[in-house]
Amino acid sequence: MSATVVVAGASMAGLRAAEQLRAAGWDGPITLIGDEPHMPYNRPPLSKEVLAGKAPFESLAFRPRASVADVRWRLGTKVVAADLDRRVVTLDDGEALAYRGLVVATGMRPRRLRCPGPVTGRHTVRTLADAQGLREALTRPGARVVIVGAGFIGCEVAATAVALGAAEVTVVDPLPLPMVGPLGDQLAKALLGRHEQRGVRFALGTGVTGFEGDDRVTGVVLADGTVLAADVVVECVGSLANTEWLDGNGLDLTDGVLTDGHLRAGGRPDVVAVGDVARFPNARYDGVPRRVEHWSIPTDTAKHAARVLAAHLGGGDAGLARFAPLPTFWSDQHDFRLQSFGAPALGKEDVRVLDGDPDGDVVAGYHTAGRLVGVVALGGPAAAAAAARYRAELLAQPALTA
Ligand SMILES: Cc1cc2nc3c(=O)[nH]c(=O)nc-3n(C[C@H](O)[C@H](O)[C@H](O)COP(=O)(O)OP(=O)(O)OC[C@H]3O[C@@H](n4cnc5c(N)ncnc54)[C@H](O)[C@@H]3O)c2cc1C
Repeated sequence: MSATVVVAGASMAGLRAAEQLRAAGWDGPITLIGDEPHMPYNRPPLSKEVLAGKAPFESLAFRPRASVADVRWRLGTKVVAADLDRRVVTLDDGEALAYRGLVVATGMRPRRLRCPGPVTGRHTVRTLADAQGLREALTRPGARVVIVGAGFIGCEVAATAVALGAAEVTVVDPLPLPMVGPLGDQLAKALLGRHEQRGVRFALGTGVTGFEGDDRVTGVVLADGTVLAADVVVECVGSLANTEWLDGNGLDLTDGVLTDGHLRAGGRPDVVAVGDVARFPNARYDGVPRRVEHWSIPTDTAKHAARVLAAHLGGGDAGLARFAPLPTFWSDQHDFRLQSFGAPALGKEDVRVLDGDPDGDVVAGYHTAGRLVGVVALGGPAAAAAAARYRAELLAQPALTA
């Protein structure tokens, strides 16, 4: 039997899982397999500082801990299949690699629009290569930019495009407000106003039906018939989980890898999922399994999953309480920051201003059945610091299902 732990996906969650396996006492071999050619790197600056040219691409690389100096890296290599009963993964070069423990850390890829029209000139932003290509396009003089999707990455790219001096920046979304899903109406309206004041235009409540142009995009056709002139299109319409390689193993892969409250997949003690790809029940809230695409989650999931897996491999039980992270995200746009703690999306129907006011710096509290479940700050560093003061209160709240 192989003694190796295989980590599929060599990005933030994969790296953190390897480091946490060492911290949890696993001193056996670890192999990290990643289809990108790079060592793990940090993605948030791809839509902000690095895209804006304020930080070099080289600044993105994570510095692995000394404890993982002995792990085997298989970069530029894709895992194409897995047989979880036989404990074997197959690589794209045909090699079959046996494992004792498997960490699923294959993350997400951008969802693409399936509309008629040319492909050249249409971008996404997930990888280093994506950001390099997009930066080149955005810095061409007079660029007219259409961003499809007013979620957090779409809003960040819009802000960066304005900062880079694009001639026109328009964000399109079928929903009535930007980031309304996580923020609710009140803060989403405040966000819209801030973007408009800084030069971003919005076409909201309408979707995209096609692209104009012969060899490359020259326009974006909206459902209401409007055509927006465009040299650069950025598709920020959500993401799809990289789980195809796990097909045929009886796992629930409906949206990422469904796990139990200890991040184990399919009832298998030797398979855990971490990072964006893991769909887990959060014992802090309602127990409904969800994926969470925040930067804090690779580290949180890696800590818990590594302890569970290391204990199993050592023949024991980690004796942990169920996984109950406090999700945290930030988003830098123009000269302001959104800072969130908890699960505001669960409390969007009962939003109360806790500090400041929506026209300036504001901290809003999100409630479910009268309980504070999330806090979001919109504004400068003082607002973010004010929101952080609610962390302890959020952590102390009883579980929603309790
Ligand atoms: C542009 C951008 C901006 C962001 N900004 C913020 C922010 O401001 N704040 C915030 O909180 N969060 C932000 N995030 C989210 C945060 O970066 C992610 O949550 C985090 O990167 C997830 O890490 P991960 O390792 O789980 O997944 P990923 O980073 O997606 O890594 C998965 C890796 O697995 C590889 N892979 C996939 N399939 C295979 C396979 N079959 N075989 C081998 N390798 C495979 C992928 O190529 C990739 O390298 C941002 C994300 C993006 C993309």
